[in-house]
Amino acid sequence: MTTGTQAFSQLRLEGVSRRFGSQDALSDLDLTIEAGEFIALLGPSGCGKSTALNCLAGLLPLTGGSIWQDERRIDTLPPERRGFGMVFQNYALFPHMSVRANIAFGLRMRRLPKDEIRGRTEEAVRLVRLEEHANKLPGQLSGGQQQRVAIARAVVLEPSLVLMDEPLSNLDAKLRLEMRTEIRRLHQSLGLTTVYVTHDQEEALSLADRLVVLRAGRVQQVGSPQELHTRPVNWHVADFMGFRNLWPMRSQASPEDLIAVEADGIRLVGDPVGPVAPGDEVIVAVRPEDVRVDEPGATTNTFAAEIEVVEYQGRELAAEARTAAGLRVHVRTDKRVAPGDRVTLSIPAQRLLVFPSDSDERPATGPAGQADAMVEEPGLVG
Ligand code: ATP
Repeated sequence: MTTGTQAFSQLRLEGVSRRFGSQDALSDLDLTIEAGEFIALLGPSGCGKSTALNCLAGLLPLTGGSIWQDERRIDTLPPERRGFGMVFQNYALFPHMSVRANIAFGLRMRRLPKDEIRGRTEEAVRLVRLEEHANKLPGQLSGGQQQRVAIARAVVLEPSLVLMDEPLSNLDAKLRLEMRTEIRRLHQSLGLTTVYVTHDQEEALSLADRLVVLRAGRVQQVGSPQELHTRPVNWHVADFMGFRNLWPMRSQASPEDLIAVEADGIRLVGDPVGPVAPGDEVIVAVRPEDVRVDEPGATTNTFAAEIEVVEYQGRELAAEARTAAGLRVHVRTDKRVAPGDRVTLSIPAQRLLVFPSDSDERPATGPAGQADAMVEEPGLVG
């Protein structure tokens, strides 16, 4: 199967905006998508992901900005003239038609020759591995199989761009993983260009070449999975990328390139992200897996805590520890800790990110004042 009936080399969103009444659901989205890329739009509920996708699809008119396929402006075209394929979370299959007829439907609407319809449909059935089920009705299929029909129905039309809105959210955990691989396989083997909406950071990181993180209708960061994982640009993105420990602290004069932070007598050192001056209020972000437990010889950012809650997670444990003064620390460790254990925690300075505290907003996981109660004296390096 070849793709790209209306092949393009670049799709550009320029200042794309959408208002609903007085609310900006999407503000000034600038994004250039290269042909062949897999882009994930990621962010919490209500951040504007679906709005962005629907603007691209032509299902929602823009209230500002423009969309270009190379030199051709397309935001003024109706959905059917954009030539995009769409896959949504409710598969919207025709219940009275067989799998094969569902997949062939769009080709029939285009009044293509019968032989071509048959050939392309069979190829699409094979691609999504539904040969044994092609004569069944959708109601006789599992959720994952139905989702494969929806995907086949979209790609059989050889769209220049495939838009997917949370396509796996109705599936159970195991199927989600399987279909994730399937979607990436199809994207690669068909040379598709895909824009994929999800609120699941793990799904986005594993699927996409580039991620666009949205918050309250605005782009926070665009980058590769690795960039977003290791270097979020602000604490909101960090929060979304799995930095579960977010502690409000105050910065101090820094040793070398690092920055020292403190709250009520406790000092830690970390890596500043963005402008942080001595005396500023900051948000410290640490991933649970970067908090070490009873590490022999650890001297950086060490402090005592007591393990309170432990969750079994296969080879590792997810634990919640608390210092004597009440700071809550999320930990992920392969050490066999148990509630009541007194441990020494440590955090490598490069894994402790220090962000400017941008507004009066505070991280939900670290209410203001939580860190103030800390009494342990950490060891300092540098
Ligand atoms: P979710 O993950 O929950 O689907 P989302 O990131 O896709 O969320 P959108 O559906 O794009 O978010 O919505 C963005 C904002 O725009 C929300 O605050 C939402 O309430 C608002 N919104 C979306 N559609 C409409 C509409 N038709 N009329 C009014 N407000 C809307």
